[in-house]
Amino acid sequence: MKKEIRLKSGKEESLLRHHPWVFSGAIASLPQNLEEGDEVCVSDSRGNILGAGHYQIGSIAVRILEFGVDTISDDFFIRRLSSAFALRRTLGLIREDNTCFRLVHGEGDFLPGLVIDIYGDTAVMQAHSPGMHFARHKIAEALTMLPDAKIRNVYYKSDTTLPYKAHLDPDNEYLVGNYDGNIAIENGLQFNIDWLKGQKTGFFVDQRENRKLLESYAKGRRVLNMFCYTGGFSVYAMRGGAISVDSVDSSSKAVALTDANIGLNFPGDERHHTHDVDAFKFLSDMESDKYDLIILDPPAFAKHRGAIKNGLIGYRKLNARAFEKIKSGGVLFTFSCSQAITKDMFRMAVFTAAAKSGRKVRILHQLTQPADHPVDISHPEGEYLKGLVLYVE
Ligand code: SAH
Repeated sequence: MKKEIRLKSGKEESLLRHHPWVFSGAIASLPQNLEEGDEVCVSDSRGNILGAGHYQIGSIAVRILEFGVDTISDDFFIRRLSSAFALRRTLGLIREDNTCFRLVHGEGDFLPGLVIDIYGDTAVMQAHSPGMHFARHKIAEALTMLPDAKIRNVYYKSDTTLPYKAHLDPDNEYLVGNYDGNIAIENGLQFNIDWLKGQKTGFFVDQRENRKLLESYAKGRRVLNMFCYTGGFSVYAMRGGAISVDSVDSSSKAVALTDANIGLNFPGDERHHTHDVDAFKFLSDMESDKYDLIILDPPAFAKHRGAIKNGLIGYRKLNARAFEKIKSGGVLFTFSCSQAITKDMFRMAVFTAAAKSGRKVRILHQLTQPADHPVDISHPEGEYLKGLVLYVE
């Protein structure tokens, strides 16, 4: 039987505008026997059906999967995944020289609570909601049924993404196939993707377009790639004709991944060096005027709204060090992936750092996440990646 959630009077407004979240404060009554992760039907105070989705305990109580229906139909996932795949084809991301991309970006693909990245014939899937966790086998099956995607392995990796309090304790495991290790191709460059041990799904596909832009600035420059992780920016800088590339990360695993990816694309190339050291220490210790192309792509400094203030201090300090040391005529690529920090806040933090350094700074490009991380216009919260490319005199 359908489990119906009734909203309080007047609380249907945001759903009528297709924002997919129902906050717990908007709910008038919950059905009996409701369990976390259940499929529910949401209606307004008069009983009119608004949509169907997944229930969860917490401030976001329901994530709507489909509006205007009372049940999720059997072909729901195949329909949504086919349409996500069609969009990536439209974007020109499915090519022989590009085999990795994000197939599902949560709300941006009308699949709240789900993220799927594709690496060659492997899909790496992360559930952010109990409902998606329970649907994982259905989703995996739908992935293998996509006619042109040729997905042979589906790896489920939700140990760190599901709400801790739900006590689901999911195993990271192959739901389909089993193939460890893969080389994916991004814009003709090869990358070892370690979804078993790597961060998130194994690779940050969201920097693809920004790495390509960096490549166009690399010729004849000395490049410093801070927070390099898999060395994505470094590999592009090498292809772009950099004189030298230094990659820095405080994780020895990340440094090893970077070395491996440089080795895959530029074996024996002596222009590249890795440094297993804290970024702030490296920037403090390094001599001035050594680098004229610097990338700052740190982890999210503000993971939630309560951390905004400290996060902004972090961005300010980090950027201030880069402004102090970058060579005149240098180009700085600086990023924030903190969803809680807006574009304006980030720009202000970078501006403050620039002003303090006394350098003359101009904005060349304002960057964001690529089109395979789309933002549902009804759900502006989906926007998270911000970047500035600055010319520093
Ligand atoms: N630029 C990367 C993604 C960066 S992810 C890309 O294009 O794929 C953030 C990285 O910062 C992680 O690899 C993490 O190990 C590293 N990191 C976190 N704190 C650090 C610190 N204080 N100093 C240096 N590296 C750090």
